[in-house]
Amino acid sequence: MRRAVMVPLLWLTSACAAGDAADLILVNGNVYTLDETQPRAEAIAISGEWITAVGSNGDIRRLAGPTTRTIDLAGAHVFPGFNDGHVHVQSTGALLSGVNLLDVHEAGLFAERVKGATTRLPEGSWITRGDWGAYEQWGAGSTGGGNTGRQEAGRFTPHRDLIDSVTPNHPVFVRSFDGEMYLANSKALEAAGVDENTRPPSGGVIEKDASGRLTGILRGAATRLVQRAIPPIPFDQRLAAVRAVMREAREGGITTIQDITSAEQLEAYRELQRRGELTVRFMIRPSLDNVTHTAGLGITQGFGDNWLKFIGYKAWVDGIMGSSGAMFFEDYDHDPGNRGYVRQIMLPEAREGAGMSMREDQRYTDFGVGNLERLLNEAVPTGLAPHVHAIGDKGVRIVLDVFERVLNQHDLVDADHRWRVIHAQVMHPDDFPRFGELNLVAEVNPYHISDDMRWMEERIGADRSKGAYAFRDLKEAGVVLVFGSDSPGTNAARYFLSPIYGLYAAVTRQTLTGEPAEGWFPEQRLTIEEAIEAYTKNSAWASFEEDIKGTLTVGKLADIAVFDTDLMDVGAREPARLLDAKVNYTIVGGRVVYERSP
Ligand SMILES: [Zn+2]
Repeated sequence: MRRAVMVPLLWLTSACAAGDAADLILVNGNVYTLDETQPRAEAIAISGEWITAVGSNGDIRRLAGPTTRTIDLAGAHVFPGFNDGHVHVQSTGALLSGVNLLDVHEAGLFAERVKGATTRLPEGSWITRGDWGAYEQWGAGSTGGGNTGRQEAGRFTPHRDLIDSVTPNHPVFVRSFDGEMYLANSKALEAAGVDENTRPPSGGVIEKDASGRLTGILRGAATRLVQRAIPPIPFDQRLAAVRAVMREAREGGITTIQDITSAEQLEAYRELQRRGELTVRFMIRPSLDNVTHTAGLGITQGFGDNWLKFIGYKAWVDGIMGSSGAMFFEDYDHDPGNRGYVRQIMLPEAREGAGMSMREDQRYTDFGVGNLERLLNEAVPTGLAPHVHAIGDKGVRIVLDVFERVLNQHDLVDADHRWRVIHAQVMHPDDFPRFGELNLVAEVNPYHISDDMRWMEERIGADRSKGAYAFRDLKEAGVVLVFGSDSPGTNAARYFLSPIYGLYAAVTRQTLTGEPAEGWFPEQRLTIEEAIEAYTKNSAWASFEEDIKGTLTVGKLADIAVFDTDLMDVGAREPARLLDAKVNYTIVGGRVVYERSP
């Protein structure tokens, strides 16, 4: 890892304050600092937001004064607060405060869950998403063996009669996990002005039952009839959704979230900050197509404060594996003719369809300057690093080609640029060395291993799967790995914010039920130390925050996660036990924001 020389300016402040009593002292801990100059300790002293001392119980207890709060950790295990490199806060919040139907594919539970959402959302608010039926075909924890494709016949298809009686005051417009069908209740149909006489638009279906009544099921273009009747999310509901995300974060020992952020979302964070309600730090990443505005306003790397800070631009090259939209050089095995697609932000490409027609022996930059490259050139002077989503082997190749040209044009390859490729999910074997030579960061989501192996080989075959989530090969190529949860997950599974799932996946490469026994492509497993570093130290470094976060070091922010389980020890010896680990305390900026009730 290339690191800037760390000048602990804040250390001076803390040293001056050392004569004063600490505000908070943690003693009797098994402390993993992740700081190689002092890797282990028993106790930590905190003044205000900062760590002022790390050492033995005796050393630290001496810093207590009459007003100091002392927490006896009783041997619990202390780590730097986890820094989740990849969260969709808005959709996680919508899921947590709305309805989650991922594991639902029968009538009773469907009605019960939808009814549950009415108790969380004020009357009149819309209940949307849901994503029912994700596990109808593949059970959670399945490795995917024996599945050949979705069985359309006999698929669970709800009727509005199921939910009308439990949703008299809430319009409902939920969908199946794959977006193949949507269910509207009567209130939603009424709001949209859809009735038995409405003619479906071309490419759309408005389903009727045998008696000619609307079932509430809409498909294709017909879904837009209801979609356009849904009003924007009220601000209070947005705040409630962020609160729900913060709660899951503090229960999981997460102290920083790297978000993909809309303007409305930033406004919600600002309001919660003003009210003193923030319990997690949000790192802001606007979409790269806003670059002209942000650059024009002088928003550069690190703009903001330690709670809300701009750390990068988000952009996208291709789709995702879950919907077979990630771009590959060859067809998907289960879907001949399909090689994925390029995302809107790439358009117009240099030449119509360059991304689609490009072959394995070509470079994307052979086709001239496309939109991504134009936007990156605008972003360079702001110093705000681009973080670009690329998933299939061709998607990753495209971003490497474009990064290479832009970095070279600005003479940045060997500068401290910290540009990121997000996901880097399936790599072409030729691309590992380039990834390292360009000094790129890979922002990856290890839990995809446990989840996606259900169907990876069926979709892209064993050969291409060798380059999937190839964390060991990336590391060996000199790439810095940053871990994130990718919460709320795919539309086929919930990915929780708690870091234990990602740590487990990276060290075992197994499903949650321990399949396959030897791990999926086990040569790519990481050690638990490497996995924890990717989730703390590396994610801070990749955001240019290594001087204030990532290790438990004097002069850094007191962002701390205390677990009941020794993650290092069980991660090495008995990784299945990682999944039982519980957080005892989460501390953000010296404030205890979560304390598990005994
Ligand atoms: Zn994502």
